[in-house]
Amino acid sequence: MPTFVYMTACDGCGHCVDICPSDIMHIDPVTRRAVNIEPNFCWECYSCVKACPQNAIDDRGYSDFAPMGHKVRVLREPEKGFISWRLKFRDGREKNFVSPIRTTPWGSIQGPAEYELPPEGMAESQKLAHEPEHLKAGDLRTITKDKFIKYELEEQHAA
Ligand code: SF4
Ligand code: SF4
Repeated sequence: MPTFVYMTACDGCGHCVDICPSDIMHIDPVTRRAVNIEPNFCWECYSCVKACPQNAIDDRGYSDFAPMGHKVRVLREPEKGFISWRLKFRDGREKNFVSPIRTTPWGSIQGPAEYELPPEGMAESQKLAHEPEHLKAGDLRTITKDKFIKYELEEQHAA
């Protein structure tokens, strides 16, 4: 379920705006507080929740780990090297757990525009741009057309 912002906790720093891959976290020009302008397009990726230094963003977590009526708090704690999760259930019980955080320094990831353009003819390749060198996984396998098996729908039904 999509995120929402506790306006009294938000200080308008804009970290959630910078990190949201859907570009739906905006600063309201009147209140100067963040708001999810298009909840239907929220991926529920939790990036904004983890990035918010004020813990001002909440969401309704997936039902597989948190049933209805619960609250989920996710906090990024880079100095400790983990992300801490706190689930509070309707009956008052709490569950706390941590998951490891990436160790790449904040802001050190290259943006798409910072990569060199892919070589000529890349559009015909089965590989994505900058594969395999950026995957650091050695050569990738490719498949040739003669290896494809034609699936005859009618024949399968008749059998
Ligand atoms: Fe954007 Fe992800 Fe936050 Fe949804 S959960 S508002 S997609 S950063
Ligand atoms: Fe407000 Fe948190 Fe977004 Fe900063 S990151 S604008 S405090 S909701």
